[in-house]
Amino acid sequence: MCGIVAYIGPKEAYPVVLKGLKRLEYRGYDSSGVALLNNGLKVYKKKGKVADLEESLVGKDVHAHIGIGHTRWATHGEPSDRNAHPHTSSNGKMAMIHNGIIENYSQLKNELLKKGYVFESDTDTEVLLKFIEDIQLNNECGLEEAVRIALKRVVGAYVIVLIDQDHPDTLIAARKGSPLVIGIGKGEHFLASDATPIIEYTKEVVYVNDYELAIIRPGELVLKNLGNEKITPFVQKLDLELAAIEKSGYDHFMLKEIFEQPQTIFDCLRGRLDANAGAITMAGVQNNIDQLKNASRIIIVACGTSWHAGLLAEYIFEELCRIPVEVEYASEFRYRNPVVHKGDVIIAVSQSGETADTLVAIEKAKEQGALIFGVVNAVGSSIARVSNAGAYTHAGPEIGVASTKAFTAQLVVLTLIALKVAHEKKTIDTSRFMHLLSELHEIPEKVELTLRSAPKVKALAEKYRDARDFLYLGRGYNFPIALEGALKLKEISYIHAEGYPAAEMKHGPIALVDEHLPVVFVATRDSYHEKIVSNIQEIKARKGKVIAVISEGDENISRMADDTIEVPEADELVAPILSVVPLQLLAYYIGVAKDLDVDKPRNLAKSVTVE
Ligand code: GLU
Repeated sequence: MCGIVAYIGPKEAYPVVLKGLKRLEYRGYDSSGVALLNNGLKVYKKKGKVADLEESLVGKDVHAHIGIGHTRWATHGEPSDRNAHPHTSSNGKMAMIHNGIIENYSQLKNELLKKGYVFESDTDTEVLLKFIEDIQLNNECGLEEAVRIALKRVVGAYVIVLIDQDHPDTLIAARKGSPLVIGIGKGEHFLASDATPIIEYTKEVVYVNDYELAIIRPGELVLKNLGNEKITPFVQKLDLELAAIEKSGYDHFMLKEIFEQPQTIFDCLRGRLDANAGAITMAGVQNNIDQLKNASRIIIVACGTSWHAGLLAEYIFEELCRIPVEVEYASEFRYRNPVVHKGDVIIAVSQSGETADTLVAIEKAKEQGALIFGVVNAVGSSIARVSNAGAYTHAGPEIGVASTKAFTAQLVVLTLIALKVAHEKKTIDTSRFMHLLSELHEIPEKVELTLRSAPKVKALAEKYRDARDFLYLGRGYNFPIALEGALKLKEISYIHAEGYPAAEMKHGPIALVDEHLPVVFVATRDSYHEKIVSNIQEIKARKGKVIAVISEGDENISRMADDTIEVPEADELVAPILSVVPLQLLAYYIGVAKDLDVDKPRNLAKSVTVE
């Protein structure tokens, strides 16, 4: 949600901030703005994309060595010029950007209204800024002190960054529950919501923790807690290359990321899987093997696409490890007083590692004594840091808002964990274990083969682009893939789509079937194959259009279906990693055929850091 960038140092701040906002635009793009300090405060903001802001600033005075920028994902107040950040204080001297939600904003606003404050926007952000301003006036204190006092009263999640005309050499930032990274250059500092805007300038970074305040000058970074005690910044080296966050010749990040999957899956397996030796090396699993093996229950908490990976993991863990598994939407889990025991293991799955609901859910479960195991893509992210143990998915930065490569990497990591635990627990026999290791080993190559279907899928996208609804059906291991396929289509093409267990379809959705309804079957060869063939017949009998993802050479289904997409033969346990790929492509090409911005689908944001 929302992107924050700030710069202080000898460079021109505006180009650094603008470029950073473009890199972060995948996080929010309904409006954007910058504030610059140079002989006074200048604030420019604009509804729409960062390019609209840039255009509106041609010919304007943007010279400054200190600046802040924001790309918004609206929570309080519609997307508009006036609700865009940065917001300014009543005296016109301070500007602030904010990521997150101030939950008690209406109470604070009422207090301020009574004191005569006037508000120019509908945002919670402006309330917080004026609240800080008010504290500064009443207590006759500096900005740093006022921020500290204010944050003690604030309920909610935030990263804030402030500049003040009276202190043109200082940036003040604070965080609770939303991400903030500080890049350390030579006599300069860069601030951002994630490392992507920073990477081309420096690899030395500090991840700010909750309840920390940063006072930043060109050559100095001071971190303090809310009790005003200094904290030594923990400087880390970024392991990220610039090429990883650029489009490299692809039309969209989403397409690039779909095509990266053979490599990302390979990276995810590298150093972990030795199919010949029959070994899985995962320190996070090994170091906690007793707790994992003896878990009374595994609870997987996740949101969105990660939840679908969790659902598939439920099937795999129960099959291989014989441990009961529950899959929970983090947003529900955290609010419904769930029963969590000491012997439980919580697996938190998140691409960004910043998903607000997942973060809070695991913090609660940790308090109740469960082992928290993070399966996260973004290295150094909040969930990774809060977890007791974990395994990174190593898919590299995912910029496309609709998750693709992070999903397949999650499936691979979760399968590896399940296999390792099952092996240690002896709930899998050696020959099946060895077979599955070699199946996983072959997956990158098979994904490569699957991607060859892209031109065919593109043609199908043209054929079905005008459908009003889609149904996605699958059974067993392919059911979560049906859910994921439907989600991808909704996200990218705005076509209504539902995923269903194929047999459950008879209990409702079959009423939708007519000659206009495309039904996508995820029907690779598995233990339920005959059953899904019958389900296809049921749809055909009602004149539905069947598009089937099948194992190569499945002539039986080819004869029945209107269209088929083949994927290489694979064990049913790993086949979903292949069958999701054509569904990602289908969503992508339909979105493109409808001339939609697939990297920035409306209303969606990458990394949901608000609840
Ligand atoms: N709650 C703030 C707003 O609506 C910030 C949203 C964001 O994180 O972009 O303006």
